[in-house]
Amino acid sequence: MPLLQSILLCSLFVFAPSTAFSGEKVELVILHVNDTHGKMQPYEAGEWGEVGGIARLSTLIKQTRRENPDRVLFLHAGDILSRGDPVTVYYGGRINFRAYEKMGVDAITPGNGEFYMGIENLQNQAARVSIPFVHANALYRNHGNSIFPPYVIKEVNGIKIGILGLGLVRTWHNSSQKLTLDDPIEVAKQYVPELRPKVDLLIALTHIQAKNDSLLAAAVPELDLIVGGDSHTRLNSPSRIPRANGQGSVPIVQARHYFQFMGRVDIELERDGDKVRINKVDGRLIPINAETTPDPEIENFIAQYAAPLNEVIARSEIELKNDRDAPSPLGDLVVNAVLSQTRADIAIIHGNQGEFDIKPGDITLADINRIRWYHSRIVTARLTGAQIQQLLAARFYNVAGCRFTKIESQVTDLRINGQPVDSAATYLVATEQQVAFRNSVFESVHVDFTGQRVDTALESHLRHVAVIR
Ligand SMILES: [Zn+2]
Repeated sequence: MPLLQSILLCSLFVFAPSTAFSGEKVELVILHVNDTHGKMQPYEAGEWGEVGGIARLSTLIKQTRRENPDRVLFLHAGDILSRGDPVTVYYGGRINFRAYEKMGVDAITPGNGEFYMGIENLQNQAARVSIPFVHANALYRNHGNSIFPPYVIKEVNGIKIGILGLGLVRTWHNSSQKLTLDDPIEVAKQYVPELRPKVDLLIALTHIQAKNDSLLAAAVPELDLIVGGDSHTRLNSPSRIPRANGQGSVPIVQARHYFQFMGRVDIELERDGDKVRINKVDGRLIPINAETTPDPEIENFIAQYAAPLNEVIARSEIELKNDRDAPSPLGDLVVNAVLSQTRADIAIIHGNQGEFDIKPGDITLADINRIRWYHSRIVTARLTGAQIQQLLAARFYNVAGCRFTKIESQVTDLRINGQPVDSAATYLVATEQQVAFRNSVFESVHVDFTGQRVDTALESHLRHVAVIR
């Protein structure tokens, strides 16, 4: 290479970035929510009046983007689906994820609540939207790959931002039996050396609880920000964990739950040669309440899917109260629906999740999704009288097709089809996958999937019965 050219190249290399950019300040705005749990409609919250609503969040996001063109990032730190409203439950989260897609979410770390309708459901729903789902520490048991990409790199306003997903999965739940969960802090230590050199700003988007975010910050000081979830913590301003090397602290943010707040983090960066320095990280919570007009785009989108759920499928002349942990009229209705739809000898299921009672009057499709939250699949198995006795002793279940006396987990006088139980004979038992998955009595028997779920059995049963008297 001629000398002059090489000097020129050399000087360009040395001086160009610094003369062009040094000292240039760049501002970023990071908006975040967590633990929204499908509570998409506004609701009353005591002294606060009406709060929440995903359509109001959308308004606030659009407003922030208008005021800060091309420098806003919107993140969700998980628990979008579980304990959701009927639209969330009925569509398996599809409407929620599509709403977030419309709102331009930049990344989601799935929370444990995203798994309860099954990892297959989560993967199917995620595949239908163009949203980066990130999760570095939940792996498939059989091949060891992470269920989603561990991180995503976004470029906003010329700044490269790495977003590493770290979360929680209840691997004891049947929906997650194909998964293993690695320690999020150990996994972060594995990925950070590869990710840190590629980005200007490194964010952990976590669903591991605030106390673990603090441990993560202490263990991985290379992080610039932790956007957390799962503990439903209200951090009015970032909590800051000092770095051991004395170079400032790692800020942690979390925005409570149920769309009560939108978190906002303002970051000031400064270019220093080809490096980027973080000058300042400020954070606060912005209330989501009646002062904000709902975004009609999101409101109408959800309303369109909510409307079919108002279909009346039966009527009740009596009140059916629910109790999750003891026999109740609503518990009996659901387990009898499972029995009648499967034609088994007996049915054994968990208490209903929803805090919802059927009142005298119309029963809608939406109501079914207020009673049962998790698309729980019905299975059947042939168990001996002795195995059934053992199962019933283990804990409280709603049961149909049998009667018994239970005193301090001793089951006596068990009668099936009106006859005293024969402990050696086998009976066809209908139950839900979660019961079969967690009880050892099912380990040695063949379990069949019926193709029905508890909620669909309840719907068929109610349509057939038409009136409850
Ligand atoms: Zn949660």
